[in-house]
Amino acid sequence: VTSDHSMFIPVRLIHSSTLICTNLLLRTVQQGVFEGLKAYRKLDGCGFMLFRPVENATRMQMGADRMCMPSPSADQFIDAVKETVLANRRWVPPQGKGSLYIRPLLIGSGTVLGLAPAPEYTFLVYAAPVGNYFKAREGMEPINLVVEDEVHRATPGGTGGVKTITNYAPVLKAQLLAKHNGFTDILYVDPVKKKYLEEASSSNIFIIKGNVISTPATQGTILAGITRRSIIEIARDSGYMVEERLVAIEDLIDADEVFCTGTAVVVSPVGSVTYHGQRFEYRTGAETVSQRLYKSLTDIQMGLAEDTKGWTVEVA
Ligand code: PMP
Repeated sequence: VTSDHSMFIPVRLIHSSTLICTNLLLRTVQQGVFEGLKAYRKLDGCGFMLFRPVENATRMQMGADRMCMPSPSADQFIDAVKETVLANRRWVPPQGKGSLYIRPLLIGSGTVLGLAPAPEYTFLVYAAPVGNYFKAREGMEPINLVVEDEVHRATPGGTGGVKTITNYAPVLKAQLLAKHNGFTDILYVDPVKKKYLEEASSSNIFIIKGNVISTPATQGTILAGITRRSIIEIARDSGYMVEERLVAIEDLIDADEVFCTGTAVVVSPVGSVTYHGQRFEYRTGAETVSQRLYKSLTDIQMGLAEDTKGWTVEVA
């Protein structure tokens, strides 16, 4: 099978009546939630810092509950994350050169054919060294978004508010198409009125107009990002007015700045948003609000600024 990005994907055909694969076929994973967090190397080069791991543990518990799964306690979650960091200590990039991305995953599986909660659950944590998600110069290179109003990543009453594995595959095709058309990522809108901004594929969206920073309120269809919450707090502490509200597509027209937040993307300035062929452009670069917020956040994450809020957790 050839995918549209010219990779060969081998597909194994399995005859369902053969005994050998019965067990494999019945082990369908129908429930799954995951998390994403980062460990940064401390300035001394030896220890490591996690950013708000309790929030990740709590979000996994909420997600597991929504998906009808049992979940690890916050202590079990954090201990497993710490163990993973220590086991992979040599892969953590030097200060300023990236981080260790950590992915805790909870899946339900087992021999059940009917629609019922899985009989077995597995919690695992894996990690990989990463640089900037958008392969741009750290926090500076703008990204270009396209508004998608036909494909939706979440619906009211659905699972958009939790980080379940089943939220991501349904938008892969739209995402690949957007990339093929030269955009960095998609900006989703609400599926009912197709008028209000929701979020990007793996990040939350903010717009700035004057001294006011606005971001879509979390109403069950967007993920309550930990970076989003942290940036709201940092921005308010820095004297900006931050509104969590319905943000309409029209608000994009005269915004000064637009940026995305997320564990992977950190704070990524948006250079343009395209809506039905119309391209809106925004201020980017060193003197922007988003760049100041990026610096305030990453200084705390990397231990370069005092962590007055108790957001970081040391791993030693
Ligand atoms: N929205 C979606 C859909 C995401 O997958 C993510 C990444 N977890 C975010 C927003 C940002 O959340 P966080 O800041 O907690 O990484």
